[in-house]
Amino acid sequence: MPKILFVASEAHPLIKTGGLGDVAGSLPAALQSRRADVRLLLPAYRDAVTRAGKLKTMATLTVPGLDSPVKIMEGRLPGTSVITWLADFPPAYDRPGHPYLDPRGQPWPDNAMRFALLAHVATALALGRTRIQWRPDVVHCHDWQTGLVPALLAREKSRPSTVFTIHNLSYQGLFPPQTFTALALAPELWSPEALEFHGRLSFIKGGLLFADQLTTVSPAYAREIQTPEFGDGLDGLLRRRAARLSGILNGIDDSEWDPARDRFIGKPYSARQPGNKAANKLALQREFGLPQETDTPLIGMVGRLVQQKGIDLILDTLPGLMHRPLQLVVLGSGETAYEVSLRKQVQRYPHRLAVRIGYDEGLAHRIEAGADMFLMPSRFEPCGLNQLYSLRYGTIPIVRRVGGLANTVVNATDENIKSGKATGIVFKDARAGALLAAVDRALALQKNTRCWKQMMHAGMRQDFSWRRSAAEYLRLYKQAARANGQRQDHEPGRKDAHVPGKSGKRTGPKP
Ligand code: ADP
Repeated sequence: MPKILFVASEAHPLIKTGGLGDVAGSLPAALQSRRADVRLLLPAYRDAVTRAGKLKTMATLTVPGLDSPVKIMEGRLPGTSVITWLADFPPAYDRPGHPYLDPRGQPWPDNAMRFALLAHVATALALGRTRIQWRPDVVHCHDWQTGLVPALLAREKSRPSTVFTIHNLSYQGLFPPQTFTALALAPELWSPEALEFHGRLSFIKGGLLFADQLTTVSPAYAREIQTPEFGDGLDGLLRRRAARLSGILNGIDDSEWDPARDRFIGKPYSARQPGNKAANKLALQREFGLPQETDTPLIGMVGRLVQQKGIDLILDTLPGLMHRPLQLVVLGSGETAYEVSLRKQVQRYPHRLAVRIGYDEGLAHRIEAGADMFLMPSRFEPCGLNQLYSLRYGTIPIVRRVGGLANTVVNATDENIKSGKATGIVFKDARAGALLAAVDRALALQKNTRCWKQMMHAGMRQDFSWRRSAAEYLRLYKQAARANGQRQDHEPGRKDAHVPGKSGKRTGPKP
């Protein structure tokens, strides 16, 4: 039974800002049901502590640079039996609101310290340097917030193997060189072959360079990030590590996202009995204050309002869209400029466009249940979960052919429709014209009731649960263990990754 320490900066339902929270909240339980022994480590954010319920202190440890100890509190991830450890250091985590951003939407100024601290706690747990008598075989880290973990562990002779999953390469955890000094990291780590990235400290490079195995959340994104277009300056490094990089598609929590059992929606329905979807549509139109019209196509969108999600394309397309006989509902939060523009547009098209700025889990479910179509014109999309929810809810996704969207939505070409494989509308170019043409295609297809129902049904029947992907992760953990074993046999002279402290000549950034 492999023992896995999952280190993440968010996990639903304790704390979530996006897809990472969904994954860290559901993959551990899926691994556990395949007989892995998984423990989850998260920061003890105020909201997470409140939602965690009963917690007990399991250990205290001292972390370099901190004058008071860090507590490790233990509870269970709500709704599962996954043992969850919260790293408790109030000056870093006991504050209200967003885990990464201050109330003005700017990164918390002490983020580097907060996530370096998480890495030190993870490292201590991984090496059995706390009172907790449990040592993992694998440490599975996620995104830049955990990037220092593989870097710190790589310095150890005898250590668990490490896996680093990229959920979004464009968030890299970049800080000025002074931060490197302030964090008192080993000077050898300041090198372009380690954490230095064009004169700055890069947390994500710790994961990308030092983890035994790298994954990302779809096969297409795994290929894309090795190109300059999607590589965010790290494509060269990723090409070098290509043999260790693979794409494993995210699964969804299919008990949480199930139209037949969804606690957030008014009328349950299923692939066999889809009739109630219409009632959910009327309820959604009512909730958004739009005219309740069964026959008017209703398009939904949920997501972070950032350029990645193509929100600018939607805004550019709005005049055209609003000339079509359709309604559009948007739920999201993100960059202020987009929030302001959307609000302004609502005043122009009050009967066709409705927008909720904010984060609302229940409303996200109701949009999936009530909309006819779901729009995701992302510029890049590591995996994307909303299109998977849409497929499950019989809501036809309209998506760009990129990343996980390309891997999961089958375009409604004549051939795919004929063979019964089509599940959505896929378009190529990140241009307003292409988006509008895709919407027109969807509107035309919807008029063909038989074909539309067939597409809905094909999507609803698909299995995007964690079953398959969890098995892939378990295989990957074995590969990571082999890679780590070979390293221990052959060191020094590891070829694919620089081992800090073995050959580093640099001695930290110049003051
Ligand atoms: P990303 O991780 O890039 O934000 P994903 O599609 O992978 O995008 O996952 C987004 C997750 O966050 C989904 O579960 C989605 O429903 C949820 N989500 C995003 N924005 C909101 C919001 N404003 N309100 C409720 N849920 C949201």
